[in-house]
Amino acid sequence: MARGLRAATFTSKPSCILLCQTSHQPSSKSSALRWVRTQSTYTPTPSHSVAEKPTELSCSPLARLPTSNILRSLFLSFFFTSSTLFRPGLAIFSGIANSQSAFLNPDKNPIIRVLTRNIVYDQFCAGRNLAEIQRTSSLIRNLGFSGVALCYGKEVQLGADNKYHGRSVSMQEEIAQFRKGNLETVAMIKKGDWLAIKLTGAGQHVTQALMEGKPAPPEFVEAMNEICRGVAAKDCRIWIDAEQQALQSTIDSWTFDLMRQYNRGGKVLIYSTIQAYLKIAREKVQHQLQLAADEGWTLGIKLVRGAYIAADQRSKIHDTKADTDLSYNSIVDDLLRGQKFPVFDKNSNLKFELLLCGHNSQTIRTAAKLAAELASAGKLKVVPEFAQLQGMADDIGCELLQISDDAVKNSSSPAFVPKVYKCLTWGSIQECMQYLTRRLVENRGAADRMKEGAVQLRQELKRRFVGA
Ligand SMILES: Cc1cc2nc3c(=O)[nH]c(=O)nc-3n(C[C@H](O)[C@H](O)[C@H](O)COP(=O)(O)OP(=O)(O)OC[C@H]3O[C@@H](n4cnc5c(N)ncnc54)[C@H](O)[C@@H]3O)c2cc1C
Repeated sequence: MARGLRAATFTSKPSCILLCQTSHQPSSKSSALRWVRTQSTYTPTPSHSVAEKPTELSCSPLARLPTSNILRSLFLSFFFTSSTLFRPGLAIFSGIANSQSAFLNPDKNPIIRVLTRNIVYDQFCAGRNLAEIQRTSSLIRNLGFSGVALCYGKEVQLGADNKYHGRSVSMQEEIAQFRKGNLETVAMIKKGDWLAIKLTGAGQHVTQALMEGKPAPPEFVEAMNEICRGVAAKDCRIWIDAEQQALQSTIDSWTFDLMRQYNRGGKVLIYSTIQAYLKIAREKVQHQLQLAADEGWTLGIKLVRGAYIAADQRSKIHDTKADTDLSYNSIVDDLLRGQKFPVFDKNSNLKFELLLCGHNSQTIRTAAKLAAELASAGKLKVVPEFAQLQGMADDIGCELLQISDDAVKNSSSPAFVPKVYKCLTWGSIQECMQYLTRRLVENRGAADRMKEGAVQLRQELKRRFVGA
């Protein structure tokens, strides 16, 4: 992708609208009802079950993508949707990602490096060094994104037994590497960008402390303070990723400590991540808003559906995809309107910030449309921003960019201009292997959406080469 995402050079942009995609909204009445039963405080509004039509746009959103990018995405969607290719491909890839052998290390074995790099790393990662990363970031800005969220790729993932299976090094060494990796990342971001941090990136000792609910080790606190000061000085923001449930309550607690310190005076430096696939997602939103209101700091929420369904405690996650969709969509709806969360009853002027991360076109499109309607009526509680992962969901990302362009073109003072960011992970190929494995699994899980996306990509190619 680093090489694929070149600035768009297309001059003729025909008038058209993006084709409507299949709804991911609750498909069955029973799942919606089950959800209402378990979430007694919430009754979904009718808008949640209505598929949102795409906004009429002045040109094809995918027109801004380079042809090389479209071709790579089409190739990968073929790979992800083919059982014959995907299963053995993933098995080999996971074997390499989890191996300690130097022979299988992509940074040391040139054959594995070439294969891994060309097939997946370039699609989903920003690059291995400053020059590669800066080139990728500026290509993304040139496409119209408001900036990037840069993430240092090294991370720890627990096994199904909730244990760490990596090589052992001292805590000091691990935190020093985390600090160095993140400070290098801070040096690469520009005003308005984000630093995305995964706390398990600080190594197995910090991961152990997260699992055991311990206070953050002093060396880690010191490293985080240095990172936070660096990001604040650049007028950027930080999001802390949500991870597996065994770690998440401590991740939340350490994140609150950072927010108490840095989200002061109406400024939001730190965002915490809430996973809507959790049965307690709504309670978490309420709890975090209430905590911020009571303690006098400003909450930043990054809302995701959740990426660990295959490796986490299933009972804590909504029973069906439809329930997760309803959870995500209803939280967005109520936050944009500033309603239904009890915290708003006594704190009607409560300020918070909201970043919607996701690739579900229906969700993102509905959120952008609702935000525009509420903003026009002067009723928008929080201005949502949007982010997608590099190499994924270019259709909805580009649709949002086109909505922004059209809003600016059609009005001298548009009520709502969506800001969209791309999240890029950087690091050596070996460091990014766990991240890449998750992307492969996630893309496979989104095979239906990829098929729909592939239709649009093929139409865009046809438009370019045949003029249809
Ligand atoms: C910028 C960005 C940052 C992210 N950061 C994080 C993060 O910090 N932590 C994190 O966990 N994830 C993170 N994610 C990943 C995210 O949680 C989703 O896995 C991913 O975006 C796919 O979900 P979606 O909303 O795009 O939509 P969809 O593809 O429509 O939804 C897929 C999601 O639905 C849920 N789901 C699927 N099947 C079922 C089922 N049977 N029952 C219940 N739920 C189901 C799962 O959450 C799955 O990931 C991030 C994503 C983005 C774009």
